[in-house]
Amino acid sequence: MKAVFGKTPLELMQGDITQQETEAIVNAANSGLLGGGGVDGAIHRAGGPEIARECAEIRHRQGGCPPGQAVMTTGGKLKARYVIHTVGPIWNGGDEGGDEILRSAYLSSLRLAKARGIRFLAFPSISTGAYGFPVERAAKIALQAIKDFLTTEAPRGEFDKINFVLFSERDFETYKKALQGLV
Ligand code: ADP
Repeated sequence: MKAVFGKTPLELMQGDITQQETEAIVNAANSGLLGGGGVDGAIHRAGGPEIARECAEIRHRQGGCPPGQAVMTTGGKLKARYVIHTVGPIWNGGDEGGDEILRSAYLSSLRLAKARGIRFLAFPSISTGAYGFPVERAAKIALQAIKDFLTTEAPRGEFDKINFVLFSERDFETYKKALQGLV
């Protein structure tokens, strides 16, 4: 499913983000940038040790990445040239702080991509795996954040395309419904 926000197409698809041929992919990382399970583990496995090496440098330089912020490494052996590592909130029952951190994780990733001149990037569903954020709620926050960014902070076609890659069919359907509610 596709939508256009500002001048930028957003496409939802089901698949494995490590196989994306975008310029950058976003990783749902943890604050220590230490790698882990889920999409984080898959990205480090597919990209090889170069990503962890650069994550260690960032950790030594600035102590990791707080929730809601984003940092960037190269993509190692991935088809994507860069990985933007962002940290979502751990679900704690639905306080607004968690919603804000999730929104901020998307916005920080997009701002970093824009600042580095990246024009084509792919997102996974941040915080909805090990971090336990309900997918329906996360989908609304994620897509609203991307829409807001593309219409207000990148309205002149600064990006060629944004892909949103959902791992399961169920998540894909949930995000589709959320996008239909937004366009
Ligand atoms: P978090 O700790 O932020 O919850 P997870 O990696 O546990 O991150 O889960 C985030 C989402 O990433 C989940 O919906 C999970 O199904 C999905 N996911 C796991 N592996 C991949 C992959 N290779 N490509 C895209 N999404 C993936």
